[in-house]
Amino acid sequence: MRIYNTLTRKKEEFVPIGNTVTMYSCGPTVYNYAHIGNMRAYIFMDSVRRVLKYNGYTLKGVMNITDVGHLLSDGDEGEDKMEKASREQKKSVYEIARMYTEAFMTDLEKLNIGKPEIIAKATDHIDDMIDYVRKLVDLGYGYETSDGIYFDISKFPSYGKLSGLDLENQIAGARVDVNDEKRHPADFALWKKAPKEHIMQWQSPWGMGYPGWHIECSAMSKKYLGDRFDIHTGGVDHIPVHHENEIAQSEALEGHQTVNYWMHGEFMQVDGGKMSKSLGNTYTVADLESKGYSPMTFRYFCLNTHYRKTLNFTFSAMDAAKTAYSRLLTLVNEHKNGTHPTTDEVLKKYRDEFSAAINDDINIPLALGVLWNMLKEPTSTKIYDLALDFDRVFGLRLDEQPKIEVSPVPENVIALCEKRLAARAEKDWALSDKLRDEISALGYTVIDKKGGYDVKKQ
Ligand code: AMP
Ligand code: ZN
Repeated sequence: MRIYNTLTRKKEEFVPIGNTVTMYSCGPTVYNYAHIGNMRAYIFMDSVRRVLKYNGYTLKGVMNITDVGHLLSDGDEGEDKMEKASREQKKSVYEIARMYTEAFMTDLEKLNIGKPEIIAKATDHIDDMIDYVRKLVDLGYGYETSDGIYFDISKFPSYGKLSGLDLENQIAGARVDVNDEKRHPADFALWKKAPKEHIMQWQSPWGMGYPGWHIECSAMSKKYLGDRFDIHTGGVDHIPVHHENEIAQSEALEGHQTVNYWMHGEFMQVDGGKMSKSLGNTYTVADLESKGYSPMTFRYFCLNTHYRKTLNFTFSAMDAAKTAYSRLLTLVNEHKNGTHPTTDEVLKKYRDEFSAAINDDINIPLALGVLWNMLKEPTSTKIYDLALDFDRVFGLRLDEQPKIEVSPVPENVIALCEKRLAARAEKDWALSDKLRDEISALGYTVIDKKGGYDVKKQ
């Protein structure tokens, strides 16, 4: 199995540390409903997990739920996203967190995204974070200012290695800094001191405060996966700041590389541009459902583009995905009771092509192409079984019946059927036969059942 490692910018052979693959995935900040772009990121995470499982690995996956400390910018500026949502929506921060975490979990289920083995809430791990920051300060990587504890990136010379930015470029890219107590413009907060009005705050060696967003992932990955683990996933937006900062914290503490493979999912655009609230195009899964697109149609739509490519969402593309997904279910279903004696060689050919695709950097679009080709074979239960085996990776619920739109039977046909039922009760067989012919002339067939009937379009 080969995967693209953002750190080395190469596809590499995947060699796990042990028998159980250890994986950390940056999870949602629960201050709002997740939009379909967010959900693409978790479908990507799910594909990685499913391919690993298909290859026989057991998994220990961790995903965080950020319910504190994520400021409006990925730097250290602006308000805490949770507190802003709480103020605007007139709900407590805990209520906001509970509500949007639940909504997120519902979306995971709807989209058939398998939950990582461990879901870790930031607010349940404040002590681990404080401990982590204290150690970094003791090692000389952290320093105190009037508003918090900052990481001193000048002490970590390889800062920027994930994004390939050198420190000078990173600094040039950093916005004009208002905090002149920072030694370096790109130094970032490990811990923030809380003003009195700040709602979420905890006791720490530096007074009341709350953790920085980046420390959350370093502390929780260490707690559950140790000082070295296999795979870390996230979105491409995490590369230049969040993950650089995570690397700096973790490697400073451990004195060695802590993540072997970094994997990042590309963004989704809408109508060729950014998704944004002001454009009114930040759709949720529920929005799609209300417009007649099932979560599985959306999943199918996402799986047709490789995770490292930008995906452009349009409603016409969703219409195409809806038709294709429905056709796919129909074709799979046709194989269910197929009797063609498909040979083992034929099955092996498709199995090999499928494995080659998924093991070449999780190439799900290519694997879907293999499935479509395979379904063109004469109908066979063996093909059906193999399609369901492939579905362990796709997660497209291919065993479900295609939803066929049933057009209602016209009222005049029903009226004739009812009349016929009455005639049969009277044992008036001549009238019954006459009515059957009338129904047939209207294009329907009536089938007698005990005490009733079925009527079908011819
Ligand atoms: P957030 O809740 O804002 O921290 O984002 C949750 C996840 O969604 C992160 O992994 C982001 O990288 C990802 N994400 C945000 N916007 C998009 C987008 N337009 N397309 C794909 N992924 C996104
Ligand atoms: Zn993270």
